[in-house]
Amino acid sequence: MNLLKSNCDRTANALISAYEAKQRIMDYVKPVQGREKINIRSALNRILDEDIISRINVPPCDNSAMDGYAIRSSDVPESGISTLHMIGTAFAGKPFDGQVDQGQCVRIMTGAKMPAGADAVVMQEDVQTKDDSITLTHHYKSGENVRYAGEDMRVGQTVLTTGTRITPAEIGLLASLGIPEVMVRRNLRVAFFSTGDELKSVGETLGDGDIYDSNRYTLFGMLKRLGVDLIDMGVIRDRQDDVRQVFIEASGIADAIITSGGVSVGEADYVKSTLDELGEMHFWRVAMKPGKPLAIGKLGNAFFFGLPGNPVSVMATFYQFVQPALKRMLGEKDGLELILSVPCMTRLAKQPGRLEYQRGILSQDPEGQLIVHSTGGQGSHVLTSMSRANCFIILPAESAGVEEGNLVQVQPFYGIT
Ligand code: AMP
Ligand code: MG
Repeated sequence: MNLLKSNCDRTANALISAYEAKQRIMDYVKPVQGREKINIRSALNRILDEDIISRINVPPCDNSAMDGYAIRSSDVPESGISTLHMIGTAFAGKPFDGQVDQGQCVRIMTGAKMPAGADAVVMQEDVQTKDDSITLTHHYKSGENVRYAGEDMRVGQTVLTTGTRITPAEIGLLASLGIPEVMVRRNLRVAFFSTGDELKSVGETLGDGDIYDSNRYTLFGMLKRLGVDLIDMGVIRDRQDDVRQVFIEASGIADAIITSGGVSVGEADYVKSTLDELGEMHFWRVAMKPGKPLAIGKLGNAFFFGLPGNPVSVMATFYQFVQPALKRMLGEKDGLELILSVPCMTRLAKQPGRLEYQRGILSQDPEGQLIVHSTGGQGSHVLTSMSRANCFIILPAESAGVEEGNLVQVQPFYGIT
């Protein structure tokens, strides 16, 4: 849908579903351009910007999966006892360079190259040794305990694709291909700040009616985990000029700007009006709890996310909307969105109307089945609920509450944080 042409989101009472809000945001943001070649260790948590095609076989040659004896399977009958003469040893990195002929075997270690002529490895536990010979009592099929060249990755195979987030497994995989550097997306620069006259930063003394700014710290943590470059712009007072100045500054240095507070309809809420004045502003009331008011837009080339002020609302809207949008801006491929259906062991109160992201504690009952409990008070100012929780309990808009034992949808924090 074309956001520019839709006026309905400007009206104060437009109420859209959380699903609709996410769709609109995902359609709105665009990937940033730019790439750089960096060393594979520095590439941890970055987004790959090339397909990786294997130039070698991994493993490079047939090798043993066991410590044992490399044999010719045709030397060992289906039944009966056979005795083979040991002619040498193959170590990992020190191949046996002779040939295994009929009636012969080679002592072999895990990872050692298979000697020419041999086609199976007998586990050392299965043989009896005497001087230079081994005795075995049962048949081994050709290929048994052999790891073939290219079994993991073959020459010419596409093993990683553009848009993959580089995790420890990918760094190891690149190393196993002998690749020292990769092309990744330019990292996102994300500016963030808090708005509010009541906010003090840690280290300052609270005046009457003040609170400490926590949103800039949760945002710091969530953005840091995501791996973007951070630009902390501090606390901005509720004055039109101050808000205007920081908007102009941020739009010159960031790809994305995230603010908290100042998007409700209070008298000191300058975020929306300033965004409207300097850029493109879309304001929605989202039928979700916590996190109803949301201002989305553009300031110059930067995408703007104006989140609500309450601390739990900031985290919920960040995880549900901003994080997926930033991933799209980074060019990251969509991953699995893990939602589980789990019995809820706490009665949950809810009014029909808005989708709720309640905070839950997922655990296992004595039989090992997953269950979820509520963290208790669900006020959007109760940040302890996020700290105690390890999942969101997602209650659909129409739900009128949950009785003990009912199945609920649960989104674990593991994997989204
Ligand atoms: P606002 O949307 O600016 O009216 O803020 C809504 C509520 O969130 C108010 O109770 C604010 O005091 C609170 N709040 C706003 N910003 C922050 C912040 N950075 N840290 C903690 N609480 C905040
Ligand atoms: Mg405020």
